[in-house]
Amino acid sequence: MYVDLMKSDATDFDVAAAARVSTIGSDGLDLNLPVEPLINYLMRDRHGSPFEHTRFTFYVEAPIFVAREFFRHRAGFSYNEESGRYKELAPTFYVPADGRPLRQVGKPGAYQFELGTYKQWMTVSGDLKRISAEAYSTYKRLLEMDVAREVARMVLPVNIYTSFYVTCNARSLMHFLSLRTKRENAKVPSFPQLEIQMVADQMEAAFEEQMPFTAAAFDTHGRVAP
Ligand SMILES: Cc1cc2nc3c(=O)[nH]c(=O)nc-3n(C[C@H](O)[C@H](O)[C@H](O)COP(=O)(O)OP(=O)(O)OC[C@H]3O[C@@H](n4cnc5c(N)ncnc54)[C@H](O)[C@@H]3O)c2cc1C
Repeated sequence: MYVDLMKSDATDFDVAAAARVSTIGSDGLDLNLPVEPLINYLMRDRHGSPFEHTRFTFYVEAPIFVAREFFRHRAGFSYNEESGRYKELAPTFYVPADGRPLRQVGKPGAYQFELGTYKQWMTVSGDLKRISAEAYSTYKRLLEMDVAREVARMVLPVNIYTSFYVTCNARSLMHFLSLRTKRENAKVPSFPQLEIQMVADQMEAAFEEQMPFTAAAFDTHGRVAP
């Protein structure tokens, strides 16, 4: 999974200044005012709107099955994705790395994952490689026969990579992180698929860098979006 923070306009100060407009108006723009305690209070009491005055734009490369999960996040998110109608898709396919758990046990909503056997591993990785190669050569053959890209792509599996731009604010990002990461200290545990966690973890690292007090408060208060 590849995640790049293309641009951001998001600082802890932005949140504090937006919150202070309700009490001291534009005096809240004073850079000397403390930021961390206010952010902690906002997070704890779930005053979420000040966190919306921030913006992150990420560029993501991920398999289609991950993008499909990602695009379920609607509130405060904007997307643009590469087109399988307008461009020829590159032959980049996801095959899980050695050690990716393969067996699911437990019940829906709270599965646990176990490594699986060597035979399962060889079959999964061998089949994925074989089917990806076969599907892509069929795709190319259809294009060479002058079949439209929008039709030829129908033979491609969901482990082919796509790329997209996604823009969100800190509040929508925290909601996404609460659902798409797995952490022991989460007040409301989530059970996201490993591959979207790999995307979310990189987004969280960028979030921590841009907004350290907000990211720390999110984590301290149980990883519930305010
Ligand atoms: C572990 C896991 C398993 C999942 N399994 C499935 C599955 O089996 N099938 C499936 O279809 N989806 C599944 N999903 C997707 C899930 O149902 C959500 O669509 C996704 O997590 C986005 O969450 P959201 O709607 O809260 O986010 P957003 O769309 O970003 O919305 C954020 C918040 O805004 C509010 N909101 C947004 N839209 C509306 C609305 N129309 N009406 C009222 N309030 C709104 C809600 O408070 C919402 O929580 C799964 C997600 C996870 C994390």
